[in-house]
Amino acid sequence: MASKTGTRYQAPRGTFDVLPDAARARARIEQAAAAIFARAGYEQISTPAFEDTELFERGVGRSTDIVRKEMFTFEDKGGRSITLRPEGTAPICRAYVEHGMHKLAQPVKLFYAGPFFRHERPQAGRYRQFHQIGAEAIGTDTPLADAEAIMLLADLLAELGVPGVELRLGSLGSLEARRAYLEELKAHLRANEGDLSKDVRERIEINPLRAFDADDADTQGVMASAPKLVERLEGEDAEHFAEVRALLEAAGIAFEIDPTLVRGLDYYTRTIFSFVCDRLGAQSEVGGGGRYDGLIEQLGGSPTPAIGWAAGIERILLALGEAEEAGGRDVFLAVADPGQGRRALALAGELRHAGFSAELDLVGRGLKGQLKHADRIGARHVVILEADGSAQLRDMQSGAQLPVDPADLVDAIGGEGA
Ligand code: ATP
Ligand code: MG
Repeated sequence: MASKTGTRYQAPRGTFDVLPDAARARARIEQAAAAIFARAGYEQISTPAFEDTELFERGVGRSTDIVRKEMFTFEDKGGRSITLRPEGTAPICRAYVEHGMHKLAQPVKLFYAGPFFRHERPQAGRYRQFHQIGAEAIGTDTPLADAEAIMLLADLLAELGVPGVELRLGSLGSLEARRAYLEELKAHLRANEGDLSKDVRERIEINPLRAFDADDADTQGVMASAPKLVERLEGEDAEHFAEVRALLEAAGIAFEIDPTLVRGLDYYTRTIFSFVCDRLGAQSEVGGGGRYDGLIEQLGGSPTPAIGWAAGIERILLALGEAEEAGGRDVFLAVADPGQGRRALALAGELRHAGFSAELDLVGRGLKGQLKHADRIGARHVVILEADGSAQLRDMQSGAQLPVDPADLVDAIGGEGA
């Protein structure tokens, strides 16, 4: 491509530019999310694009794919190991501890949006710089918090009109309860070691759950007969999971229990969930998350239960399919005479202050060229400023053109339902 277009530099592998047409579609997603979060009392947080590498090693887990293979890690000029953030939860928990947010009223409900970085093999729906919207409710272990968090993502996907969405639900139990199960699972994996992929085999001891996530057919065969954690939940873990299910049912949120559901990060406990979309191919998850009751303690805070999720903006866009239609403008201010530029600028300012979108000719086109340009940018009205101080208002859809008093422009356009 480079040689064809003569472009010498290209966006790095697995990254892309967001050009204005695409930016519009993204802005709609972010605005819908911000509105949903605001109505639920979530407030925005932004953390740095990079952190100390150790935060992710401890927070995400050394045995995970993310830490083992996918991090962009480098040494800075001071000899510190730095990593571009591959996910948002560990940084937010770091911020929660660092800023003593446990002193605030709990739970602390936060949302974020921004770029994340993973060194993965680029393919549809999988990039090296991608964008997530996410939410965290920190400082509560109630099933209500889980159900509400899930509801927010369900609402977002519904409001955006993402088609073919399904919610998969599982539970990993508490860390203590999981211990016995993990021994059982490891025994099953060891007994079938010959059929496991190299990757899974190497991690029987350190991350046996990941075997459920393998794409290799033989490994999947072994996992079909593996013991399942959701079927082994007991006591408070079982009650918690039952209550989350009851709450979702009461809220009218459809879900399916998936006994093989796991997540790519070590920190999850109890509830985990994943929203998948049948329109997406191999990368079918649009968003997911779960409870991470041990993470904040792991990062040096006091034991603090929490739940959260993240959704991929690119996956949502892929699931939505078509690009958004062009934005259009309310008004284009054309000048029949170049001397009217000042008036055009002043009127554009007036219209914009009144809440209309307005553009003017910035390159000195002739009147015909300006009208053509107005059409191209989707202007609904064109105001033509004549040399004698009079003006014409043209409706671009009907082609009707009438004299208009420039002093009444805001009313004239407002009256036409711009
Ligand atoms: P996957 O199984 O697709 O690799 P994951 O388990 O690694 O997903 P999470 O870490 O839970 O995903 O991230 C949350 C969301 O971020 C995913 O549901 C997906 O929409 C998006 N996402 C994750 N990795 C990428 C990537 N490399 N490119 C684009 N989007 C991504
Ligand atoms: Mg992944």
